[in-house]
Amino acid sequence: MSYRIDESVISNFLTNHTHALRLSALPLDPLSRQCPVCRDIYHAQDPAYVHPLLPADTPEYPVQVHNRGPCSHILGRRCIERHVRAGQPWSHSCPLCREVWFPAPNSARTEIVSTLDNVLGALERLEMRDEASSHEIENVEQALENIRELLYSQRWI
Ligand SMILES: [Zn+2]
Ligand SMILES: [Zn+2]
Repeated sequence: MSYRIDESVISNFLTNHTHALRLSALPLDPLSRQCPVCRDIYHAQDPAYVHPLLPADTPEYPVQVHNRGPCSHILGRRCIERHVRAGQPWSHSCPLCREVWFPAPNSARTEIVSTLDNVLGALERLEMRDEASSHEIENVEQALENIRELLYSQRWI
């Protein structure tokens, strides 16, 4: 099962829900002045680059999450991107507080299957009195079952 998150989701998150912090905005204790993931000491953001664009050799600068529920954690710019790109089951949530930053990549597929199950259940509860309609309903049921099988066999869920 792949947990890879779409590029558009990642770039939307980095652009709209993280912002670079000045070093002067950080508390003075040493732990607050280093990335909690890689422990690198934060550097000031290179003014030549606009957050969140990141050249490969940029030293870790502090980035704060905002408008993602109660999470307002500060992490290093490189580590936050490495985390959401890791393709792990937890890559869509904060590594410090587990607050969900955006929907898990497979939630759309899971939702499709649960919708299918609801429709199949509804069809089962229908009482068809005439032959032709009940035959049609059977065909629809069969088609939906096939779609569900396909979703499972492709390991999309
Ligand atoms: Zn880091
Ligand atoms: Zn958090």
